[in-house]
Amino acid sequence: MRVLKFGGTSVGSIENIIQVKDIINDQEKKVVVLSAMSGTTNALVTISEHIKNEQKSKASAIIDGLEISYKETTQALFSNEEILLNVQEYVQDIFYYLRRSTDKKYDQLLYNTIVSYGELLSTYIFSAYIRQEGVRVQLLPALDFMRIDRNNEPDNFYIRQNIHRIIDELPVADVYVTQGFICLDVDGQVSNLQRGGSDYTATIIGAAIRAEEVQIWTDIDGFHNNDPRFVTNTTPISNLSFDEAAELAYFGAKILHPQTVTPVRELDIPVRLKNTMEPNSYGTLITHDVHGEGIKAIAAKDGITAIKIKSGRMLLAHGFLKKIFEIFERYETSIDMITTSEIAVSLTIDNATHLEAIVEELERFSFVEVDNEQSIICLVGNSIIYHNQTHKLFQILQDVDVRMISYGGSHNNISLLIHSDHKIETLQRLHRYLFESITV
Ligand code: ASP
Ligand code: MG
Repeated sequence: MRVLKFGGTSVGSIENIIQVKDIINDQEKKVVVLSAMSGTTNALVTISEHIKNEQKSKASAIIDGLEISYKETTQALFSNEEILLNVQEYVQDIFYYLRRSTDKKYDQLLYNTIVSYGELLSTYIFSAYIRQEGVRVQLLPALDFMRIDRNNEPDNFYIRQNIHRIIDELPVADVYVTQGFICLDVDGQVSNLQRGGSDYTATIIGAAIRAEEVQIWTDIDGFHNNDPRFVTNTTPISNLSFDEAAELAYFGAKILHPQTVTPVRELDIPVRLKNTMEPNSYGTLITHDVHGEGIKAIAAKDGITAIKIKSGRMLLAHGFLKKIFEIFERYETSIDMITTSEIAVSLTIDNATHLEAIVEELERFSFVEVDNEQSIICLVGNSIIYHNQTHKLFQILQDVDVRMISYGGSHNNISLLIHSDHKIETLQRLHRYLFESITV
């Protein structure tokens, strides 16, 4: 069986929903994972923020707008009266619960419940639609099998047991539609896999059912060699290794949730990225195989904080790093880049929630400097650190104000830290010299 995941835009308009139906309608058995329709999760997040700030009327106004758009979509999608009525009832129920939540006290569970409605709506509507169109479909409720453990990692044993059980219990179908993103936590409460988590759902399921392939269908034809939002003339990359894809996803390439390849990498299940709007273009195939040499792609991640920690004593005494790491560990804040010198350590974090407390503790035994608004630019390619063209990078960087550089942490990655104001210009510059063969 294959697992096919479709993102928000793929189910975000009537035209695209029809397109997705055509893509999946080939009589082969498959699991289809859906995101919420585009814009919905953002709207739900805003609704919960208004509830948090006790601004009920603002929350209600967004709920009203959202409900109208769902009414219009369902009206346009269904010609079968009976199916239409059934779907309308479901949509009404969800909006009833959503309205009721504006009277509740805000907490994490309320937030998680509200944001789960997006995927519940999209999967209900989509499965009803393809049933109307004659596809043998069953809805596979994610909350019946998708669960995370105490460490917020997928509970693979539980997932595997339950998804098989549910598929066996359901009437035979060609297409099993399920919700991306949402899951239960260790206490059995509604939770999720973080924003963009539907990709992760797809590979977790792929691993659980030992799928032959996981396909991520989105609105772009695969991983590009640079960020198409900021750079023109980017081109799709046909093949990436799991390592390369993991680095790119982690360091900012928006196309994939950072954890996506983790569940399938060990099992060697290929991940294919495809464009719903152009199903015939090749996309990107991610496998264990290594293709090409040198710098293959560039990605950037914003919202990075750099912290420079200078030893109170002149030399980096042993035990100094341990003390630093223990503090970050205690605040569950992971470190992305790190460079050291004899007297100082510079490192970056992307989650500044506990920054103040961390700095306060560090200052007990060191001098600390913090720089906000930093971006990591990540260059990825098979064995790039050995490649004979990589030295060009250092010439190009002559004119870039680099705050930190990480080279050799892995063979496939070089990371640069720059101020976010210089990000676009740096991406464009790197692109011109590295991919458009302009010499320095
Ligand atoms: N709907 C969720 C989000 O917008 C999950 C996803 O799209 O992957 O983050
Ligand atoms: Mg996404």
